[in-house]
Order: sequence, then C-alpha cells, then structure tokens
Amino acid sequence: MDSALRDIVTTNVVGTVEGSDPVLKNEAVVLTAHWDHLGIGEAVNNDRIYNGAVDNATGCAMLLEMARAWASLQPKPKRTALFVFVTAEESGLLGSEYYAENPLIPAGRTVVNLNFDVCYPFGRTSDVVLDGADRTTFWPVVRRWPSSST
Ligand SMILES: [Zn+2]
Repeated sequence: MDSALRDIVTTNVVGTVEGSDPVLKNEAVVLTAHWDHLGIGEAVNNDRIYNGAVDNATGCAMLLEMARAWASLQPKPKRTALFVFVTAEESGLLGSEYYAENPLIPAGRTVVNLNFDVCYPFGRTSDVVLDGADRTTFWPVVRRWPSSST
C-alpha cells in the first residue's frame, strides 16, 4: 500500500457566551470536545472511513446543544462560557495543547474545564464516568452529586 504524509493546517473552533456579572465574566467555564477523528482502516460493512460518529461527534453534539441552551438562558450565567471544539485530538491532543498555551481567558481565571468525549448513543443511561476529576479541585463538587458512588 502506498501512503503519503503531509502537513495540514487545522483549527480549533470556539463559541463564547459572555458572563453577566461585571467581575465574574472575567472568569471562564470551559467546555470542550474534539471534532476530529482518524481516518481510514479496516472496512466495516465495506466502509473503510472511520467517521467518528461516537468519538466524537456525540461529544460535539452535546457541546453544541449546551452552547445553544447556555446562550438562551435568562438571566445569563455569571461567568463567561467557552465552548471549545478542539482539533487534532487523535493526533496527540494538539488542539488542546494549543488552547492550553493560548487560552482566551487565562488558566488562572478558568474555574473548570469539562471535556466531553464519547456519549453513549444507544439509548438512555444512568451512568457517567468522570475521568480525571479526582485529580482536580473540582472533585468536591463531583462528590456532592446526588447519585455519586465515588
Ligand atoms: Zn475521543
């Protein structure tokens, strides 16, 4: 099989809903999902393209809906919300790395970053897995969740 490697330019995509509080709007709630997926492999039903419907179109769909809902809230939440669709996750978290190095609101004023990666697409579920939350200052909030078994 012949193959070729080439560099391409790609971008993160960001939507912003400015916070309503004159002070707290300078802080960010960051919500992320990666919009890329790798590419071509073993055929499934004669389709060799890995479209990434689950990983991570489901996360992007969740993020889009959260952005729509967040933007329609009245009154607006106090803090600014950033909905960041990061690129090149499958190539080594490159879009996330770029955002971490070039945040729209400095990391010291980012109160939380919740990343959405793979939403179970086969019906209702009652389980949510929060990878990494135990290594953050957000952990006490997670533990207060009513159905938390942590
Ligand atoms: Zn993913």
